[in-house]
Amino acid sequence: MVYIITGGPASGKGTRSDILANALQIPHISTGDLLRGIAQTDKNIQEKLTRGELISDEIITKILEERLNKEDCEKGFVLDGYPRTLKQIDYLNQILEKLNKKIDRVIELVVPDELVYKRILERKKCIRCGRMYGIDFPSKIKNVCDKCGGKLEVRTDDTKETVKKRIDTYRENSKEILEYYRKKGLLKTVDASGHSERIIQEATEA
Ligand code: ADP
Repeated sequence: MVYIITGGPASGKGTRSDILANALQIPHISTGDLLRGIAQTDKNIQEKLTRGELISDEIITKILEERLNKEDCEKGFVLDGYPRTLKQIDYLNQILEKLNKKIDRVIELVVPDELVYKRILERKKCIRCGRMYGIDFPSKIKNVCDKCGGKLEVRTDDTKETVKKRIDTYRENSKEILEYYRKKGLLKTVDASGHSERIIQEATEA
């Protein structure tokens, strides 16, 4: 089972991928999360993330391939944030061939720009367990994680300037990627301005 979740910044990729991965009992692999982990000890990557720039195809592919080779991915995975360039489509095809896996579906989440800004500037993440909170799903106690009691913080790349850059980058790169998967009959586009459960239901029913 291989599901790819794609969409611009704050389209809800993370939250929706989690729900889908839980339902299918397979891991949720987010290249953004993998990179944020590495950024804690790698200044170069940290700077790129803070500026909202893409990491090079070769570096991110190497990181992803290592992760997908782990045992928990044997049954499949929900991939969030990759591929983001045409070259990454090629790399992913090569990796999947080696793993003897096929893509079941590519789900594109679409949200209007105004909502993206609103969601991003109000969202926070638990620094301990990584759970996200936002306007649609606030924490019960302000700045405290419901799940683990950790502290909630704003992501360093969630600023107005970086968001614009990330939206532009997504628009520029996503067209050809979506077209590629549309032609293969794998693409399902869903309106992600509503609640997660309905979106995932729609996506998995399709
Ligand atoms: P968003 O989609 O909200 O920008 P992500 O968590 O998916 O958030 O990604 C955060 C950042 O990580 C991106 O802005 C980019 O710098 C980097 N990144 C994530 N995935 C990739 C990828 N496949 N290729 C290159 N850079 C990536």
